[in-house]
Amino acid sequence: MSNHLDQLRDELDQVNIKILDLINERGRLVKEIGDIKKSQGMKAYDPVREREMLDHIIDQHQGPFEYATVKHIFKEIFKAAKELQEGDYRETLLVSRKKKPSDTIISVGDISVGNGENQFIMGPCSVESQEQVNTVAKAVKQQGVNILRGGAFKPRTSPYDFQGLGEEGLKMLRHAGDQYGLKVVSEITNPKDIELGTKHLDIIQIGARNMQNFDLLKEAGKSNKPILLKRGLAATINEFMNAAEYVVTQGNSNLILCERGIRTYETATRNTLDITAVPILKQETHLPVMVDVTHSTGRRDLLLPAAKAAIAVGADGIMAEVHPDPAVALSDSQQQMDIPTFEHFMEQLKQPHAVVNNG
Ligand code: PEP
Ligand code: MN
Repeated sequence: MSNHLDQLRDELDQVNIKILDLINERGRLVKEIGDIKKSQGMKAYDPVREREMLDHIIDQHQGPFEYATVKHIFKEIFKAAKELQEGDYRETLLVSRKKKPSDTIISVGDISVGNGENQFIMGPCSVESQEQVNTVAKAVKQQGVNILRGGAFKPRTSPYDFQGLGEEGLKMLRHAGDQYGLKVVSEITNPKDIELGTKHLDIIQIGARNMQNFDLLKEAGKSNKPILLKRGLAATINEFMNAAEYVVTQGNSNLILCERGIRTYETATRNTLDITAVPILKQETHLPVMVDVTHSTGRRDLLLPAAKAAIAVGADGIMAEVHPDPAVALSDSQQQMDIPTFEHFMEQLKQPHAVVNNG
């Protein structure tokens, strides 16, 4: 009896290996088919073909399994094959680390982003006046920060809210940057204005609300300026990577990714900072990754711990908002730091061992 059991078990082991071999053989065929489809510009997934295959299998089926069980098993096999094809597709993304294993370092004049040192992008939510942006620029410079931010084209939820000073704002930001020896970054929202950004800025920002504005991404891809691309409010990491791909496919690979929080059911913070997006993006892509602690948390008291966390998980830099008098700021008055708070923030981050970086 026990002999017979052992024998059956032996047979079962052999069948398992046969199934394994057959599944892998199927996988190889699917990959080959996927490559041909790709070269002909066809979509990998073909539901009609899947239906035909299932019908054929059911036709041939003789038991002892139920039809539904067989269907379920094959659907899982089809799903695995589809994932295999999609894996190949990601392999071909230009932003993927599989395509380019080494880190991309972005040169912004004489400074670098992504070279292992932390860069900070600090400045007001919106440029409101020359005096306001100069005051912040001075404080930012004193803390050894290299990049000044300030919005001029503001994507506001309400059309009645301050919309930004437009090109005048870009000029004020540039002026402050030149005066204090800082690089400048600002958001451009309209493809037509990429030209203005190229003229006045060192880095062009594409904001969360425009992460999938494909015309804007393509236009940014045609410029030679570094682009700071923020993750969309409800974008998956895969969608974020594909948005980045839009820029790179147009020829501009000077791209910095920025995690800025995503919408979740949590209301304690303005958005939910997806801290694991940082190491995932660092693994999956070769691009520098920064973290915007202001828009992700929406809370002044969380800026410092969020920045420490970002650095600890390998971010290449931090963005945060600073305003001379946040209470009267024309946008985001709840979450910008005043100058003493900003100084404390920077001093804390610069402390040796402020962050334990486990690499
Ligand atoms: C900003 O940085 O000014 C901004 C509007 O951020 P986000 O696009 O991430 O909301
Ligand atoms: Mn803001």
